[in-house]
Amino acid sequence: MSKHEQHLANILSAIEYEFPDFKIVDKRKSKLMRVLSKVLFFNKNFMTRYITVIGNTVYIPTKDWVKEDAYRALSVFCHEWVHMKDNRRLGPLFKLLYLSPQIFSLIAVLGFWNPLWFLFLICLLPVPSPTRSELEMRGYAVTMAVNWWLLEQKPNYEWYSKQFTSSAYYWMDPFKKDVLKDHKKEFDRIQKQELRDHEKQIFEILIGKP
Ligand SMILES: [Zn+2]
Repeated sequence: MSKHEQHLANILSAIEYEFPDFKIVDKRKSKLMRVLSKVLFFNKNFMTRYITVIGNTVYIPTKDWVKEDAYRALSVFCHEWVHMKDNRRLGPLFKLLYLSPQIFSLIAVLGFWNPLWFLFLICLLPVPSPTRSELEMRGYAVTMAVNWWLLEQKPNYEWYSKQFTSSAYYWMDPFKKDVLKDHKKEFDRIQKQELRDHEKQIFEILIGKP
């Protein structure tokens, strides 16, 4: 077993221990994912390149995705683990915050009663989502941290900021300058080892007690 495979096994068993109903599912075999890929038509790589977590189920593009690259899998599972923890902590509010403001477009069904409510369809536009952005930043901070701890790799800020400013997450934060600043701040915090509890937990699994 390579070093990364060992790390991956340790991370997966820690996730399973914390979330006994943790599951890994092939996206192509999931009806829900196939429907979602139509809704999320603006993200062309949704089925092939993106990992999606809903509740405690992580959807991967192919059955062999985990085996193909142990390091990639380990880094992604650490990121998704953060979403699982936040989802448990926030309950239904997590989905509301993550899907805001676009989710408020659902209110537009009231338009069949009074057409004024159709105005809520405006929420379907790529209006920035500070709440989704905040939740993703917590995930990407862990992505950066793992790359730093295990590979001594500094973040490629262009790539990170693109996740936030592009269609990848429905243009959740189009203000690139601020996005770059936030990422630099997060990486700075990680380098200083000023870690949040879940980051400390991951650090201890991967590196050991400080
Ligand atoms: Zn994420």
